[in-house]
Amino acid sequence: MMKIGNLALLWICALCSCMQSAIAAKVLGVRSYRAPEYTRLVFDLDAPLQYQLESRTDPHRLILNLKHAALSGHLDSLTLNNTPITGISSKKENENDLLIEMALHSTVEPRSFTLAKNEQYSDRLVIDLYDIVVKPNGTAETDYIDPISAISASLDKSGKRDIVVAVSAGHGGDDPGAIGVKQLQEKQVTLAIAREVAALIGKLPGYKAVMIRDGDYYVGLRQKVNMAHDQHADLFIEFHADAADNKSAKGATIYALSSRGATSEQARLLADKENRADLIGGVGAGNLKDKDEGLVSVLLDFGMTASVGDSLEIGQKLVNSLDTVTHLRRRNVEQAAFVVLKSANIPSLLVESGYITNAADAENLDSPAWRKKFAAAMVNGITAWFDDRPPRGTLIAWQKDHENDQSRPGTNSVKSNSVPHGQLSKIPVKTIAKPAFKQHKIARGETLSNIASMYAVSLEIIRSTNQLKSDNIRPGQVLKIPAS
Ligand SMILES: [Zn+2]
Repeated sequence: MMKIGNLALLWICALCSCMQSAIAAKVLGVRSYRAPEYTRLVFDLDAPLQYQLESRTDPHRLILNLKHAALSGHLDSLTLNNTPITGISSKKENENDLLIEMALHSTVEPRSFTLAKNEQYSDRLVIDLYDIVVKPNGTAETDYIDPISAISASLDKSGKRDIVVAVSAGHGGDDPGAIGVKQLQEKQVTLAIAREVAALIGKLPGYKAVMIRDGDYYVGLRQKVNMAHDQHADLFIEFHADAADNKSAKGATIYALSSRGATSEQARLLADKENRADLIGGVGAGNLKDKDEGLVSVLLDFGMTASVGDSLEIGQKLVNSLDTVTHLRRRNVEQAAFVVLKSANIPSLLVESGYITNAADAENLDSPAWRKKFAAAMVNGITAWFDDRPPRGTLIAWQKDHENDQSRPGTNSVKSNSVPHGQLSKIPVKTIAKPAFKQHKIARGETLSNIASMYAVSLEIIRSTNQLKSDNIRPGQVLKIPAS
């Protein structure tokens, strides 16, 4: 009896493994996202699989062969508007494989890679279809259309340039970011806030905003940084919304890059989370030819910022300005090692606009009226800093130098619909007298010499100002930093 039981069990197990080897993975569904220069398809899988992707012409189509796979979801719910795909169908192939055919109305340059499952997503196969445009002379080229929507003209009539603010909405496409109260998605909130901020900046004479993401698609880290550089941005600012298990956690936080450790444990955890979210959401589109090669090196290969001091100062202006519109989790600018902020030479800030997991914050984040107030306060903070310290060659710098002049170029070239400075909103911008000393709270891993270079002051001055007997410093200790 015992013997027969064991045999029966063995037989069932053999059958299981046989079935497993036939079908190793199921396709649970497919999602599509349209970015300015490509269409991304994300196939959700319940296990990793092997695949082959082939382009065919006459008619244009892509054949995706998924080894040992079956379809368990639906393909017909896919949104194909504004994509090169005209239809998608599937059939079984050689008993074990699944063949998915995508009919195209034009040729594309396909790139593909797989992403392993993580706490947020199952295994995925990602296919990016880059548009190919045929130039007038007949040559074809991958369509790397400049994906930035410039909101205002760059050069003033006088030839003085605008101050350029790169406005980035965190997450997007297949990376929704945090999910909050009433299923509110972080990627929607960040885009709505970014658009509001960019629109307000675009109305100011002497300022121009460029949107780093202007739709529901994902922009890779390297691409964000490259776009900011290509547009000669004077400031990079990225919006996010916080999330916490503790539903009572609320308020906004402003972060600047720290090349060495974070100013608080909270900042370190958050940087881990946001950096990881970027790993989940995409993989530097435009840099990966095929498969997931070199992901980590792509992400880590950023220059260090030379403008932490500026970032901290602009951040403080934002903290002061936001004070009247929202609860602030911290009254100072936090520092954390966000990958996206490592944009060499461009002051960069990351704004956690509020907690999407807190009922009151989520209601605000979802409210167009609140977002308008929040954006106005952000822009007040930004202009408060640039009006003080305008970059050379800009209209704002020229105006500052010629404040008592009769012939201000700005006065005869005000943009239509422009809002005069200082009248952006009724929100008063607190003007604070520039203190002779700044304070720096030492983070783990920092040394006296890198703090000195961060603020562009000499080691000697820091030592004497703080009456230090040695260069031994400890995390949490607060240093007085003389203005450089
Ligand atoms: Zn985020």
